[in-house]
Amino acid sequence: MWNEFTYQALPMRVAFGAGRLAVLGEEVERLGLERVLVLATPGQEEHVRLVTDALGRHTAGVFQEARMHVPAETAAAAWATARRLDADGCVAVGGGSAIGLGKAVALKHRLPVIAVPTTYAGSEMTPIWGLTEDGVKRTGRDAAVLPRSVVYDPELTLTLPATLSVTSGFNALAHAVEGLYAPDASPIVSLMAQDGAQALVEALPRIAKDGADIEARTRALYGAWLCGAVLGATTMSLHHKLCHVLGGSFDLPHADVHTVVLPHVLAYNAPAAPRAVRAMERVLDTHEPATALQDLARSLGASASLAEIGMSEENIQEAVRQVVAAPYSNPRTPTADELTGLLERAVRGERPTSG
Ligand code: NAD
Repeated sequence: MWNEFTYQALPMRVAFGAGRLAVLGEEVERLGLERVLVLATPGQEEHVRLVTDALGRHTAGVFQEARMHVPAETAAAAWATARRLDADGCVAVGGGSAIGLGKAVALKHRLPVIAVPTTYAGSEMTPIWGLTEDGVKRTGRDAAVLPRSVVYDPELTLTLPATLSVTSGFNALAHAVEGLYAPDASPIVSLMAQDGAQALVEALPRIAKDGADIEARTRALYGAWLCGAVLGATTMSLHHKLCHVLGGSFDLPHADVHTVVLPHVLAYNAPAAPRAVRAMERVLDTHEPATALQDLARSLGASASLAEIGMSEENIQEAVRQVVAAPYSNPRTPTADELTGLLERAVRGERPTSG
């Protein structure tokens, strides 16, 4: 029962469904744009071709150098390209890296962004930007970076490799879990979090078995949309703080870190977040949601420990120091010893506990 809450809806427009990339040109015209710069990561030539075909005469050019965590020099090169081509907007096709670059351009030049997500990371649903300079990632919120329109076409996700699909799906699940116990949670956020998590939990095993299963891809992308909307609507807690520190300071792969850490944080927070636990029990049909999440990830081929993805036990104390130093919200306030224990379990690939 929710007696009191605040909910602020974000001005998002979504076109969803297999084949909906066909409406991209209309979305550009609806916004009154003439010449858009297409942003993408290296290697995604096929997506770029599909997008530029859909845009037709509205394509001003392509900048295909997007990188994880938006390095400042990449953002500067994209800014210069947008200027040189006299672009009046951007279309970012790809995962969080391409969309993050679109946000960086929006932040500097106030150019509207249209997002065409091809992973489940969820950046397209948030007004959160990030920029990395000298190894330090700054993040902030600015309404100008929120994509004006998002075209979710599951056909573009068919090429996402199985393991990346699973870890990216866990990245989305992490938004749902933390939205459920966020300080600014609300019934509408809870509905989105549960339905989004349910969709992903059902779809990921099917995708791991057959990446070309368009029904499962559609369901996963729907789940990713809802989980991204949860991320955009709430304040994230310990899990996202930990992943930010681990990814930023130890150069660990973003989605894999989320996948390994999430069960440990859910188990740790469980005693202080009964409503969230009940929701995840329903989603996973179990009384041990944290363990079930870990089992699910492992059964689908994800890494079992932070050690497997490059984190050494020697780095735990530095990670703890950084997490303790920065303020963040969480249903439980962890001591340095508790954080150390949590990270030891994650590094060693042990079972999640509330300890
Ligand atoms: P990513 O965008 O770097 O993509 C990972 C890799 O997959 C890249 O090599 C990319 O080219 C490839 N790829 C993407 N889609 C593909 C497809 N359909 N088929 C084949 N290959 C494909 O990774 P990500 O996990 O989507 O995003 C991570 C980044 O996004 C991080 O920098 C993270 O901080 C940021 N992020 C930001 C927010 C936010 O709200 N600002 C939210 C989530 C993530």
